[in-house]
Amino acid sequence: MLFDMRHLWNILDSLKKNSDLFWFLDYDGVLTPIVSEPEKAILDLEMRKFLEALAEKFKVVVISGRRLQELKKLVSVGKICYAGNHGLEISGLGVSLVLPRAKRVRPVVLKMCRELQKRLQGTAGVIVENKGLTASLHYRNVAPKEFAKVKKIFESVVHSYVKSGSFRITKGKKVWEIRPNLDWNKGMAVDWIIKNFDPEGKLLPIYLGDDKTDEDAFRTLRGRGITVMVGKCCQRSNAEFYLRGVQEVKILLRNFARGNSKFASVFTRL
Ligand SMILES: [Mg+2]
Repeated sequence: MLFDMRHLWNILDSLKKNSDLFWFLDYDGVLTPIVSEPEKAILDLEMRKFLEALAEKFKVVVISGRRLQELKKLVSVGKICYAGNHGLEISGLGVSLVLPRAKRVRPVVLKMCRELQKRLQGTAGVIVENKGLTASLHYRNVAPKEFAKVKKIFESVVHSYVKSGSFRITKGKKVWEIRPNLDWNKGMAVDWIIKNFDPEGKLLPIYLGDDKTDEDAFRTLRGRGITVMVGKCCQRSNAEFYLRGVQEVKILLRNFARGNSKFASVFTRL
């Protein structure tokens, strides 16, 4: 069942009274706008300040399809937990996990990436990203007339791995993700993190995501947390609430970070 989404501002006042929120924030499309080249998705200064302030008061997790090390580098905020590769790798706040079943896929992912790079060499705009446990093929900058060719090559490279059941493909915003076919997703990662940090379930999880892979987390948290789709209003989603974009996420975080005098100068500039 899909919710009739409401704007998150409808419950902002009651949310602000909550001192026991447990924050889960996706990175691309939530903390930074979607950009044409993934490495250019840089967290802006204000957003980082708000995240730092938020992490002083609450438990905060940044979760992403990006690999863990890259995510840590991009966000660069201490005192938060990072979940990379859709939660296959989790690190921070005293926790460290690489899903054991995922470790052995690295050489296979590397092989697929090399094959894709070789066969797509010379096709402008394609980015093949080896993320260790997973891989991505970004086609945002591929010319429309080249799209069918890229898709065909991608499908032929991954075909046998998908057919054998060892890998699966998920689609994001102008990206195909090659992921080990493990019974694990952002939703299960969120569940694992909650059990680890809040075994008695005292905190109220709030999850902000913008893409298809976040739907697993929205489903996991249905009925037990606040789920927020970031993007256009009322698209099909399992989230209960929405925000219109990164700017509104910033306003939300600002609301919760406010009151921390260390960050006062940032607030006055907004
Ligand atoms: Mg995203």
